[in-house]
This record gives sequence, C-alpha cells and structure tokens, in this order.
Amino acid sequence: MDRKGTRMKKENIKVPVNRIIPFSAVDGPGNRTAVFLQGCNLDCKYCHNPETRALCIHCGACVGKCPAGALSIVQEPTDTMGAKKSRVVFDPAKCVACDTCIHTCKHDASPRIQWMNADEVLAEIQKQMPFIRGVTVSGGECMLYPEFLTELFAKCKELGLHTLIDSNGMVDFSLYPDLLAVTDGVMLDIKAFREEDHVRVTGSTNETVLQNAAFLAGEDKLYEIRTVVVRELFDPAEVIVSIAEFLRPFTDIGRLRYKLIAFRPFGVREQYQIYESPDASYMQQLRLVALQAGFKDIVII
Ligand code: SF4
Ligand code: SF4
Repeated sequence: MDRKGTRMKKENIKVPVNRIIPFSAVDGPGNRTAVFLQGCNLDCKYCHNPETRALCIHCGACVGKCPAGALSIVQEPTDTMGAKKSRVVFDPAKCVACDTCIHTCKHDASPRIQWMNADEVLAEIQKQMPFIRGVTVSGGECMLYPEFLTELFAKCKELGLHTLIDSNGMVDFSLYPDLLAVTDGVMLDIKAFREEDHVRVTGSTNETVLQNAAFLAGEDKLYEIRTVVVRELFDPAEVIVSIAEFLRPFTDIGRLRYKLIAFRPFGVREQYQIYESPDASYMQQLRLVALQAGFKDIVII
C-alpha cells in the first residue's frame, strides 16, 4: 500500500510454477494452455496433487534419489550471521519425469519448480498461438499470487486470449478489481456448504468461499462451480441444494455450470485413500438433484 492506502501495482513478480500444460481440453472452454502454480492454503483430504501444496524447504532428501541427475545441491553464500545455506537446483533438461522426487518428499513439495515472471510464462503461452483459445491458471492455489495473475492476464488480453482462474475461493476476489477486469471467469471449488463439513474436508472454514461465490455470481464472473463427491465426508445432495438456494439471489443459476467430480483415490495421500469412489448410478442421482435444484448445465466426471 502507498501512503494514501491504495494498493500499489507490483510487476515482474516471480512465482513458483509447478508446470505448464501447452494444450488442455479440460480446463475451460476450447483448447487452452494451463498454468499450475505451486503452494496452497487448504489441506483437502482428497487432494490429487499433494505435491503442489507447499514450497520446497531444500532439505535435500530427494536429490540422491533422482535417477537422472536432474537435482543437485548448491551452497549459497553465508548470510550476515555466518550461517551456511544450501539450495536444491533442478535441471529440466535432464529430468525424465519419473516422479521419484515427489514420492520421496515428505513436505508436500516438489523440487521441479521454476520461478517465472509474467513475461516468461507468456513466452511459453505464445508458443501455442494461434492454436489456443485461452489460458487457465490453476494450482495449488493461484490466488496466492494475485499481482502476477493481473499482469499475466492483462498481457493475455492484449493477445485476445480468454482468461480463467481455477480457485479454491479462499482469497477475497473483491480486493482485486484490476484482476477481475482482465479475467473472463472463475472456476470455483465449493467443497462443502456447511462450515463444519468444509473444516472436515479442508481444515478451514468456508466463509470466504461463499462470499466469493456470491460476489463472483453478482459480477457475472462465476464460470463454473465444482464439488468433489465424497459421501463419507458430507451429504453431497444437501450441498447441491444448499448452493442453489444460496446463489439464487445473485444470478440465474440455470446459466451456471456445475461440475460434480467423483472422488477417485489416484494420487491421494495414502491415509486418505480410504474413501469410496461413488459409482456412476450415484452420480446420475446427483445430476437429478442438481436439475431439480435449478441447475441446467451439469457436468459429471
Ligand atoms: S521427476 Fe525428474 S527431477 Fe524428479 S526424480 Fe525423476 S528425473 Fe529426477
Ligand atoms: S522437494 Fe521435498 S524432499 Fe526435495 S528438497 Fe524440497 S522439501 Fe526436500
């Protein structure tokens, strides 16, 4: 903030990029480039990419496990207190994407992060022009980096690209009007409706998530809402009906896309692979619940 209390524009911020998928057909409309940032502010029991949750603490445990020599430890210059520091360095040219490092890491991190600014990410996106319609930034939780998103999306808009944010809704979108101005839509997770259920699933309350859902719906920026269906953690039918009732004052919910995602244990941390994957007939029952609640565009995956 400056002396007048207005938010200062930050540019050229480098953010931790977990990966960039050049072409994706599942991260929004049309062919898109999907950018995944590292770091998350929730601890969902069913997280399929737990290695995106935290930043590397450079413990070095994964370095010796890498079969391709893509990881190494460098000593940093000693700091003013004389303490020695070491850092794990990743060489993407040597990596064979075997994932041994992320299976080794006990900190929900990855050593394969690249710190990139908006221009560097844009340069990767531009390699796909003119074969993409848009860009989706996901995570981890990409709203941990709103200034980066604002800069990247402003540049994407200059190229005529459609822009989507994939978010868990834990950062207040209303604080970032400049970002919303260059964002075409938000794909928002509503992981549970009752507060106690949300705490059980994610470790956090959902007051900000619901506030964001109402705000984005009112601003016509809510592209899609999503709920991962885990019957042992909450009542999915009740969640669908509650979301419909909650959003109805803010938008025509018949225009919203609701994606219902069946829990699958693949990639989930071992202690949370205990939940049942709902079968196709149960997911179809939920589709009917959503239809009766007023949703029309329902996607089951
Ligand atoms: S994924 Fe890449 S960096 Fe990680 S262990 Fe395998 S080769 Fe090494
Ligand atoms: S990725 Fe994990 S195991 Fe590897 S150095 Fe970082 S914190 Fe340690």
